[in-house]
Amino acid sequence: MSNRISKFSRRLFISIGTAALIVACNQAQVNQSQSEQQTETAPTQNGQVNIYSSRHYNTDDELYDGFTEQTGIKVNLIEGKADELIERIKSEGANSPADILITVDAGRLWRAQQADIFAPVESEVLTQNIPAHLRDPNNLWFGYSKRARVIIYNKDQVDPTQISTYEDLADPKWKGKLIVRSSGNIYNQSLVAGMIEEKGEQGTAEWIKGIVANFARPPQGNDTSQIEDIAAGVGDVTIANTYYLARYEDNPEVFDKVGIIFPNQEDRGSHVNISGAGLLKNAPNKDNAIAFLEYLASPKAQEFFALGNNEYPVVEGTPVDPVVDSFGEFTDDTTNVSSYGKNNAAAVKIMDLSGWK
Ligand code: FE
Repeated sequence: MSNRISKFSRRLFISIGTAALIVACNQAQVNQSQSEQQTETAPTQNGQVNIYSSRHYNTDDELYDGFTEQTGIKVNLIEGKADELIERIKSEGANSPADILITVDAGRLWRAQQADIFAPVESEVLTQNIPAHLRDPNNLWFGYSKRARVIIYNKDQVDPTQISTYEDLADPKWKGKLIVRSSGNIYNQSLVAGMIEEKGEQGTAEWIKGIVANFARPPQGNDTSQIEDIAAGVGDVTIANTYYLARYEDNPEVFDKVGIIFPNQEDRGSHVNISGAGLLKNAPNKDNAIAFLEYLASPKAQEFFALGNNEYPVVEGTPVDPVVDSFGEFTDDTTNVSSYGKNNAAAVKIMDLSGWK
């Protein structure tokens, strides 16, 4: 751990050192941008913002460059695993250089919230552009891209009219045909937490009993391997995020053999989760950080942010990738994603007791 921290520190100092050089060069641009800025949150602190992120997609560089071009504010980036970044921010305390934490899954944002590292942001741009169910009710974090967790099926084995809901996966007709990843994964924990919000703990326990009874094998692998194994006929149906399937666009051995069902289109809608970000309590560059959070909700940034991982943008009118578009339109469950954090402990307990290991 200490090795890792010192590596992170080194990277930060290198970043900040570089930033100091660039600040002078950017100063003229900053002044110009400030006068052009439409928002009230003009950058005032040293022309930089420090971001801790557990995302690492190629387009993220373009995303950050776009912000610097628009505002003159240099972006210093530290990448790491979400839980390690949260720990690091906690241990840095009041001296933390971090302004913003970016991570995936509302369950993890909730963990960060429980660690008391976020500060609320009151911003009309954010509350107007981001749908209410995709951000924290107290404005501690905001969802910037949407991921749908759907049913993927083998086209040779399954008549898609036979299954339309998450509840259907527990039907005995899928006995020995369902494959899933383990309950240790936050995506499934959040799916079950969403089910608790809908059906309560008792109803969710019943559902999971049916799910476990249908397993073709003990839970294993990640979303990608579920999709590959469905294509290979190891099971007939699975649960996975759509962006993993999009990655197989050029691989007909997988892509053409499986189909997508957006569950629960006749009732509450499909389970969605987010990639999100929040302002940190001890942020040294608070105004710049808020400007960055608002930038992420702009159409230009939305394209980079969502398309970098074939996710869905949250701001209406943002184009989606053609392969994502080919999956079709769907309605999402508008339960606030913060419930995934609130119900996480109960979800983990129910999965464990019911044999979804
Ligand atoms: Fe993922």
